[in-house]
Amino acid sequence: MRLDRQFDSIRSEVSVAINHVLERGNVLQSEEVVIFERRIADLCGTRYAVAVNSGTDALTFALIALDLPRGSRIGVTTMSFVASASAILAAGHTPVFFDIVPETMLMDLEATISSIALHEIDAVLAVHLYGQALDIETLHAAANAYGIPLIEDAAQTLGAMRNGRPVGGTGVAGCLSFDPTKVIGAYGSGGAIVTNDESFAKKIQLLRYHGHAGDQRYVIQGFNSQLDSIQAAILNVKLNHIAEWRERRASIAALYDDAIDQAGLRRMVTLQGNIHNYHKYVVWAPDRIAIQQHIYSAGVQTKIQYPIPLHRQTIFNCSTLVFPNVEEAAEHIFSLPIYAELTNEEVSQICTALKTLP
Ligand SMILES: *Cc1c(COP(=O)(O)O)cnc(C)c1O
Repeated sequence: MRLDRQFDSIRSEVSVAINHVLERGNVLQSEEVVIFERRIADLCGTRYAVAVNSGTDALTFALIALDLPRGSRIGVTTMSFVASASAILAAGHTPVFFDIVPETMLMDLEATISSIALHEIDAVLAVHLYGQALDIETLHAAANAYGIPLIEDAAQTLGAMRNGRPVGGTGVAGCLSFDPTKVIGAYGSGGAIVTNDESFAKKIQLLRYHGHAGDQRYVIQGFNSQLDSIQAAILNVKLNHIAEWRERRASIAALYDDAIDQAGLRRMVTLQGNIHNYHKYVVWAPDRIAIQQHIYSAGVQTKIQYPIPLHRQTIFNCSTLVFPNVEEAAEHIFSLPIYAELTNEEVSQICTALKTLP
């Protein structure tokens, strides 16, 4: 990522916004945060958005606010960033992992829905990964039919759509991250929860600040997890560019698609009905190391998201489970650089490297 380049393109807007906050001295719980929450709710098509300090807190608070008995079993994919499952532990519950489907790297919904039908899980945390939604309507229908709640981890899908609807507003709540690496990133940490349920939004507001119900009354045990006004002001500036940046990433992705096809590698399938936000561009290669090395010698860095499936991470203590699709994927996938500030020259350099694989 080149946040320095991005800053160059928004320097004056960001400076004005930060100065505005500092000149008024209102650095927490200011109007910038309220405006940010309104814009995020509108973008996600929900009635409410509550800003918190990280995507991890958003997930943790959403799970706590479900008020499930301690130790409830929460279904989640084994292919994601660690926070998708560590938040389940933080909320006092147990992750139940599911394998992925190789075409998209998204959670295997057939397996998940069978598990719901067998009453093996008490709630489901649906992770939309790499910038595209999973088939949330099908999962939501199954969860509803069996009366279990559905939370969405939409940390990677801000601005993505599914069947004409923004991602994150289908379940009880959607959780967003404004980590600097995300498509809209703070210069620090940030997160939000979106929901259509007023009482759920109120619970999150209590959780984010010590259970404070106003007038120095503290009604539940909470946390201190605020999005500060400077970050909200910066995010409000960046939100002005969300469509333009997505367009640019989409046009880069289209060039990568071509190069990947010519190189005979496999790319992730975009599900029918999805508008991808191209947060990440993931490739599946038979011989990943050789290909990553070839690309690196052409001057281009690649990364692996994610090299170790979650069920194999020590913290979850369940490495005896076997999920063939994710084990296979973890050996073969890598990600190409994708961000709006890549130059045309750099993109064609990357495409050339792909088309000249040994
Ligand atoms: C980034 C991310 C999170 C955590 O968000 P933070 O703001 O870094 O705490 C959770 N889930 C997924 C899928 C993410 O990509």
